[in-house]
Amino acid sequence: MQWEVVIGLETHTQLTTASKIFSGASIQFGAAPNTQACPVDLALPGVLPAMNRGAVERAIQFGLAIGATIAEESIFARKNYFYPDLPKGYQISQYEIPVVQGGTVSFAMERGGKTEVRTVQLTRAHLEEDAGKSLHEDYHGMTGIDLNRAGTPLLEIVTEPDMRSAAEAVAYAKALHSLVTWLGICDGNMQEGSFRCDANVSVRPVGQAEYGTRCEVKNLNSFRFLEEAINHEVRRQIELIEDGGRVVQETRLYDPDKRETRSMRSKEDAQDYRYFPDPDLPPLRIGADWIARVKAAMPELPGAMRTRFMNDFGLSDYDAAVLTQSKALATYYEALVTAAGVSQAKLAANWMMGDVSSALHRAGVEIDAAPVAAGQLALLLARIADGTISNKIAKEVFGAMWEAPTASATLADDIIDAQGLRQISDSGALETIIDAVLAANQKSVEEFRSGKEKAFNALIGQAMKATKGKANPAQLTELLKKKLG
Ligand code: ADP
Ligand code: MG
Repeated sequence: MQWEVVIGLETHTQLTTASKIFSGASIQFGAAPNTQACPVDLALPGVLPAMNRGAVERAIQFGLAIGATIAEESIFARKNYFYPDLPKGYQISQYEIPVVQGGTVSFAMERGGKTEVRTVQLTRAHLEEDAGKSLHEDYHGMTGIDLNRAGTPLLEIVTEPDMRSAAEAVAYAKALHSLVTWLGICDGNMQEGSFRCDANVSVRPVGQAEYGTRCEVKNLNSFRFLEEAINHEVRRQIELIEDGGRVVQETRLYDPDKRETRSMRSKEDAQDYRYFPDPDLPPLRIGADWIARVKAAMPELPGAMRTRFMNDFGLSDYDAAVLTQSKALATYYEALVTAAGVSQAKLAANWMMGDVSSALHRAGVEIDAAPVAAGQLALLLARIADGTISNKIAKEVFGAMWEAPTASATLADDIIDAQGLRQISDSGALETIIDAVLAANQKSVEEFRSGKEKAFNALIGQAMKATKGKANPAQLTELLKKKLG
């Protein structure tokens, strides 16, 4: 039997407001337990929630960025359940009418050696509050409750069951992560739980129209866990069905140490939560004027920037896509081109995707922590363009800049001068070197004259070696040709 995998993702993104969604308490990560829970978050008698305008504006930004409908009027509902980290006995969320409806997220994905653009349809994105946290460690056999996180604003982003592999789900999650951090509505810190995914997974025989029964794997807080959890869940479901069993709808947890998913609880139906509109909160009304104000203050979006890079800098679709993968990368690249000049845009793109990218990778840092500033790299590119150094020597200089960074705007020149790396473009000097090389390599000269083209390269190699790679390659080639007749 051939199986088709069906995946829908629910992603909880923590919004970058200063305070909670319905109270003025701070949402700063890492505070001592229960120091950031005010009476509203603790659900003391008589308190009332007050909507955080900044949280709504972040939801509007997200809706605009994905081409969704922003509901003119959306409703907050109570999702009722009992859990020790939920002092009110219900979570304020949105149920029937969410603030963001529809929209799409597109991303490039490798498949069979080809890059293709995939588009995932979003169902909705709704505002809700986070719950507190149960701490099971270090409490002498007891469980502690930390309510700092209670009331933290979340935007839960839900997709249609559109994805067909773990790799595709990860590509979507990465694109979503890049978008919300680009917008600045979420800090994207996955270790701290600011961006966590629930994966809904089912399988069906290829060709079958109805979806299979799904399981939901909760709280995957890294892209690697997301991919592993889906792959393990898929395998589990296929084995179960092939052994004559049946998948039951349930919530599962992924254990990264054992590399397996295990049952957490049977899945509640919506009716179990007894959703009803929260009488403490009026409907959320968002007028066209508010949307227009939010839109005017939004940064340029990745798609628009990608098109602009192609039009203004002559980049290929692929280069433009890579360089707009994150806002930090795009910002660095744009600063580089501004400093180096548009005529260097392609050279700059090659450097970003080549030497800069591998240096970042080796150091395990992101571009905004790169020790070489865009302006410093621009000067290095200018020295390649004006023939002071070859591209090969430039790589060495770049390595030196990276290893011993300073704030000097002329760092590239400083290194070129200090290490005597200036390209030899003086014909007289090059001719002297060539003469010496020819005298010392008579055998290659004869081979060349008898028709062996390869011997020419050997002679170039020798001359380069004699200049420690500093000879201007084009000039050297030309002079050597002349000498050999
Ligand atoms: P709930 O709110 O109970 O989690 P939803 O109907 O809102 O349930 O669906 C949640 C997620 O599950 C959505 O992302 C949706 O695309 C996905 N989903 C629904 N049915 C399936 C299925 N058969 N296989 C995989 N994913 C599914
Ligand atoms: Mg769910």
